[in-house]
Amino acid sequence: MGEGRTVVIGGGITGCVVALRLARTGRAVTLLERSPTLGGLVVSFEIGGTPLECFYHHVFPNERDILRLINELDLGPDFKWFRSSVGVLRDQQIWPFSSATDLLRFKPLPFVDRVRTGIGSVRLTTSDWRWFDRMQAREWLRVATGDRVMDQIWGPLLRFKFGTADATVPASWMAARFRQRASAWTLRGERLGYLRGGFRKLFDALTVELERLGVDVRTSTGVDHVDVDEGSVRGVALVGGESIEADDVVYAGQLPQLANLIPEAQRDPRWSKIGRLGAVCVIVEMDRPISKTYWTNVCDANVPFGALIEHTNLVGPENYSGKRIAYLSRYFTADDPLATDDLDEVAKRWMSALADALPSFDVSQVNAVHNFRTPYAAPLVTLGYRQGIPPIESGIGGLFVATTAQIYPEDRGMNECVKLAKEAADHVLARDTRSVRRKAAVG
Ligand SMILES: Cc1cc2nc3c(=O)[nH]c(=O)nc-3n(C[C@H](O)[C@H](O)[C@H](O)COP(=O)(O)OP(=O)(O)OC[C@H]3O[C@@H](n4cnc5c(N)ncnc54)[C@H](O)[C@@H]3O)c2cc1C
Repeated sequence: MGEGRTVVIGGGITGCVVALRLARTGRAVTLLERSPTLGGLVVSFEIGGTPLECFYHHVFPNERDILRLINELDLGPDFKWFRSSVGVLRDQQIWPFSSATDLLRFKPLPFVDRVRTGIGSVRLTTSDWRWFDRMQAREWLRVATGDRVMDQIWGPLLRFKFGTADATVPASWMAARFRQRASAWTLRGERLGYLRGGFRKLFDALTVELERLGVDVRTSTGVDHVDVDEGSVRGVALVGGESIEADDVVYAGQLPQLANLIPEAQRDPRWSKIGRLGAVCVIVEMDRPISKTYWTNVCDANVPFGALIEHTNLVGPENYSGKRIAYLSRYFTADDPLATDDLDEVAKRWMSALADALPSFDVSQVNAVHNFRTPYAAPLVTLGYRQGIPPIESGIGGLFVATTAQIYPEDRGMNECVKLAKEAADHVLARDTRSVRRKAAVG
């Protein structure tokens, strides 16, 4: 058996932080990632010579754990808070939707509904989520803000995030979203954070730090299965045949894939019960902006995506050789045609629908298009979700599970992944302590 070695499967933010925490205690760690680079869903390409996330990323002001990590890696000077803005696309224009004043001026809704939405939103922001895990977000929002607001605002928003599964979203998840968004508000408007030069920098810095601490970081290395014997892990077998012995294995990949790595008799049925959401981002490069807004919720039934995110309205175009960049985005369930549709066709459809819905956008202003799809963007949260979350300690000795499906009711952003990773590392270290005590008692 390896000398106190932990194998971490998955080099996304969660796996990297588990490895970092364990290596800092002096533990021997091997980090295995099947892609050529670390980062997982925080994957980038380049525009104008600067890395940009294939899937939009920003940080909310209350996300302290990711900020601490950024500072620990000496990236604080690159991290900036930017003025942000939210809008709603409806009736051929983008309506500002960032503040109470914006809401009161939101003409698509009658005045009484605007006031009801404001009061309802405050109630939702301050509610205790635990009571709402078995209640539909749709019904909760309808009761708090009324039918018209539900149909015109929240309904399209839920469809953007959950596709056809919008009816199963628990109110507790929605309440956490309200609290997260509220954390971005200040008297001078909303602010969001971004790492200038892209979050690729975070993973470059993590790679350097992990290697400095002696972590055996192996990219382009997939794990075929975990070796389990007499109820405890013995190590992992890599795709291609090599084996690595280990006392502990931390799985930090996507939860539904875990069962494939473990002998059938030892699997926890909860690993396979939680569904998944995929996501598509169509990124358009232009010479001029579409609007002045960073984040626009698309509440127009003729537009087949849910959010227009103008990245260069948050982080200036001077960072991308003057190019303007916008994401068109939507999430999907596994049975949605978007899971398999040809992405070039999807991009054409989406841009043409946007041009019809918003006169300030013209397809001819687009200089380049980049399409990205991931089949696993987030777990599919459903009513009563909390009861089905598998624990970090798997029940198999030495196997720990730290995946985004265990993050709830908060959204599975990088910040929550960092928190979960720290918790998982603590479990590994606690097992170490328990086994040292056992050995001492026997000795
Ligand atoms: C469209 C979109 C927008 C987002 N926006 C934001 C945002 O604004 N702010 C924010 O904070 N977060 C955002 N997120 C969420 C965030 O990116 C993810 O939740 C987070 O990166 C997940 O990290 P992870 O390490 O848990 O998982 P992942 O990033 O999925 O990493 C898991 C890794 O494990 C590897 N792996 C799996 N199985 C194996 C195996 N058998 N062998 C070897 N390697 C394996 C995979 O290759 C992968 O690299 C967004 C995500 C998406 C999709």
